[in-house]
Amino acid sequence: MNNYILVINSGSSSLKISLFDFSLKEMLISFNFQALNAEDCTLFANFKGKKITEKLPNFDHEKTINFFLNFLIDKKIINSIEQLKYFGHRYVQGGEFFQKSTIIDKDNEEILEQIMDLAPLHNPVNFKTFKIFKKNFPNGLHVAVFDTQFHTTIPIERFLFPIPYSYYSNHKIRKYGFHGSSYMYVLEKAKEYFKKKKLNLIVCHIGAGSSICAIKDSKSFDTSMGMSPLGGIMMGTRCGDIDPSVIEFIHQKTNKNLYEITNELNRKSGIKGVCELETGDFRNLISLVEEGNIQAEITYNMFLNRIIEYIGRYFFALKGEVDAFILTAGIGENSQKLHTDILDYLNNIFKENMELKHQEINGIKVLAKFKNFEYLVIPTNEELVIAKEVKKFI
Ligand code: AMP
Repeated sequence: MNNYILVINSGSSSLKISLFDFSLKEMLISFNFQALNAEDCTLFANFKGKKITEKLPNFDHEKTINFFLNFLIDKKIINSIEQLKYFGHRYVQGGEFFQKSTIIDKDNEEILEQIMDLAPLHNPVNFKTFKIFKKNFPNGLHVAVFDTQFHTTIPIERFLFPIPYSYYSNHKIRKYGFHGSSYMYVLEKAKEYFKKKKLNLIVCHIGAGSSICAIKDSKSFDTSMGMSPLGGIMMGTRCGDIDPSVIEFIHQKTNKNLYEITNELNRKSGIKGVCELETGDFRNLISLVEEGNIQAEITYNMFLNRIIEYIGRYFFALKGEVDAFILTAGIGENSQKLHTDILDYLNNIFKENMELKHQEINGIKVLAKFKNFEYLVIPTNEELVIAKEVKKFI
């Protein structure tokens, strides 16, 4: 009887579930549910090379999971539910407790419950989804793979915030960093490409959530997100780094409480907030830029500037010794405008050494080669990294 690995990636209003066969050569099916608990909840699925879209109004996490499990049986993708034994749960924030992927046994379950407040937007929903799967598969092997685990190598002088030290010693307030599975995937691909084990990279994961990571000797050296995924560069709906006194000032001016303001910084800021759009979708922003909309152009320039500034910061932090600048995730992989605009900066600084390439090698796009480094696009695959992590425990 075949065995499978299920990878579960849950957000407050989205749920992605992917099924791998045991060889990990193939992702058999991937379901991406968006706008959970809302009228326009929609399933986007990839199944046998076909793309399926279906409206599922007001589906919550539990209904969604049941729908997925029934689909597997109805379409005879698996013969019986007993074939599902191995589960990889993407867990956003592992704090200092979890330095690597971990089987969620009774003890670890208690710790996960305790660190809920370290990432109030993400950990509770990750935990809730785990509990639903645990209820359906009490004897399954459930593994948590943390976004933060790749960043446990960041040195203390880089992960501390310049605030009273007691906040770190008493409450573990510090930078943790996120998108770890994505960086792990891109790093492995880069090692294959360069045929080198130790690499220095600046990787830009630019999607709905975005961050940048400086990788030194193939380990995370610094990253733009902080204690939560709200810090760093500007994102679809999140503000990234801002002057912290803005929060008190908004409160004084509007009487909004801390919860309301933080919610705005997470959900109503970034591209969506500055350009006053319905969503933070980058493609909408670019359409407006192309129509000549000034507010969209200002927003795009802000977005680009923040990326460039972090790239510059990490280029200096790595003392200029960089094997590659790499773009990944939805925007990073696909936006030619962003590719070109970053290239313009590189070209201006390193122009004498530039050799334009535009070739594709094993799925890696070479945008340009310079004397000492390359400028690449490497499509990410966080799900595969999580499935591989689960397999290590079997
Ligand atoms: P992700 O979070 O990695 O799924 O990325 C989602 C973001 O990628 C959204 O803002 C999309 O608008 C953006 N995106 C997806 N496809 C493209 C594309 N072809 N060009 C530009 N942006 C894209």
